[in-house]
Amino acid sequence: MKTKKAKKIKIVIVDVDGVLTDGTIGYGNYNDDYRRFHVQDGFGFVLLSKAGIKSAIITSKTSKAVQRRAKELKINMVCQKTDKKLIVFNKILKKYKLKSEQACYIGDDLLDLAVLNVAGFAVTVPQACDDIQHCVDYVTAKDAGYGAVREAIEFILKAQNKWDDLVKKYS
Ligand SMILES: [Mg+2]
Repeated sequence: MKTKKAKKIKIVIVDVDGVLTDGTIGYGNYNDDYRRFHVQDGFGFVLLSKAGIKSAIITSKTSKAVQRRAKELKINMVCQKTDKKLIVFNKILKKYKLKSEQACYIGDDLLDLAVLNVAGFAVTVPQACDDIQHCVDYVTAKDAGYGAVREAIEFILKAQNKWDDLVKKYS
């Protein structure tokens, strides 16, 4: 079932805090919050773009670190400071002329619930709250901020038979 859903995916949209990060936010002496990203999650976005799959970020916070990281990874769209994630999700789909069943969404908390309920392939992390874990298609084995996003991306690429070709490019 989840493989069948993953086969249709043409865009991967992710939350940041508690998905791309371990959920901690560092507060120091400067205005911008500190974030720590996993390099393998990052390279997952590079692999997605090589496979012709788009990517986007939807986050309720605003962070220059997130903007910088997304730019480095050539993530197609970054939508920050949004509590109404479903509205933004639908706008992204409209922009790329995609249907919800063609979108994978990865989120970890109640702000993500409405999007997870409509996304074609709904993914969460082991640290997500129970209500989230119960409504998704796939819970990653890897932890948030430690390769969970990469795991989901690999699952999609393998379901679409694109993984082996990507590995060949690097061997
Ligand atoms: Mg989150």
